[in-house]
Amino acid sequence: AQNTLVLLKPDAVQRKLCGEIIQRFERKGLLLSALKLLQLTPEMAANHYAEHKGKPFYPALVEFITSSPVVAMVLTGCNAVKIVRTMMGPTNPVDALPGTIRGDYAKVMSYNIVHGSDSADSAAREIAIYFTEQEIV
Ligand code: ATP
Ligand code: MG
Repeated sequence: AQNTLVLLKPDAVQRKLCGEIIQRFERKGLLLSALKLLQLTPEMAANHYAEHKGKPFYPALVEFITSSPVVAMVLTGCNAVKIVRTMMGPTNPVDALPGTIRGDYAKVMSYNIVHGSDSADSAAREIAIYFTEQEIV
């Protein structure tokens, strides 16, 4: 089985969509291996989004992701990284089909509800930002 890091972004928490979104992942067959609500520090946000540093949208991205609490989780299952990305839909919700999380709940790129690791390597790196070894059960 494979682990992936999922964040329910501040818009998901503020809009009270966390239960619905977690339910989608569970119904698909992914297993919760770790879960917490936390407020990201600017340092954690910079680490999480290091690949985007210097891009035009980076300051707004860090501002948004640190604006209020997020839910972080590790989901586990065969092909979990790819399955979560498919369930999320494209980055821009304008392109996301109904039935995907972004397609059903989001309409603009800056507030797109959910993050999922884009590779197994990213997952390992990102999981370490949010969870200690002991917290992954
Ligand atoms: P995430 O990493 O949040 O799961 P993603 O992998 O689909 O999303 P990335 O290319 O990693 O997309 O971009 C990270 C985040 O930065 C996106 O979720 C989006 O909120 C924001 N973003 C990306 N590109 C743009 C852009 N051109 N304009 C505004 N915001 C953007
Ligand atoms: Mg990404």
